[in-house]
Amino acid sequence: MNHTLLLGLIILVVFWLGSGSKSGPGRASGRPVGRASGAVDTRSERWGTSVHEAGHYRVAKQLGGRGVHGWLLPDGGEVYGRLNDGVDSAIVALAGRAAGRRISGRYGHSGHDERVARQMLRGTGVSYSQARREAERLVSTNWGAVKSDARRLYRNGRI
Ligand SMILES: [Zn+2]
Repeated sequence: MNHTLLLGLIILVVFWLGSGSKSGPGRASGRPVGRASGAVDTRSERWGTSVHEAGHYRVAKQLGGRGVHGWLLPDGGEVYGRLNDGVDSAIVALAGRAAGRRISGRYGHSGHDERVARQMLRGTGVSYSQARREAERLVSTNWGAVKSDARRLYRNGRI
């Protein structure tokens, strides 16, 4: 077995955005919510979650993520994908809040994302604030695509 290859192996990145203690690793995934008809209600929780998850989704794609998918759940949303390393994973973890901040002016809560980011950065030499700035930069330069992903997620319940 080639260990160098193993180390370079794709890291599975799993993110949750949920409300309260039910969110986080180990939680049984709920049934995805259905489609929404009509215009996007930008004041709804569904829209806020869609933008947050679209931030994870778009930045993961931008960083070469494979198999990236996301969906809405009754109490939040999830994005799954595979990335090349821990630094990219941390940046993707912080991209949800970076996206949410652009529509609400604040980061909102997502303690799970923050914990994932800190864990992924351990031993990499990249600081949390460096990763956060990079997440903000990527969300900002891809904002049009993030919004269009968010609309798709809002309408279809999945992306
Ligand atoms: Zn998140």
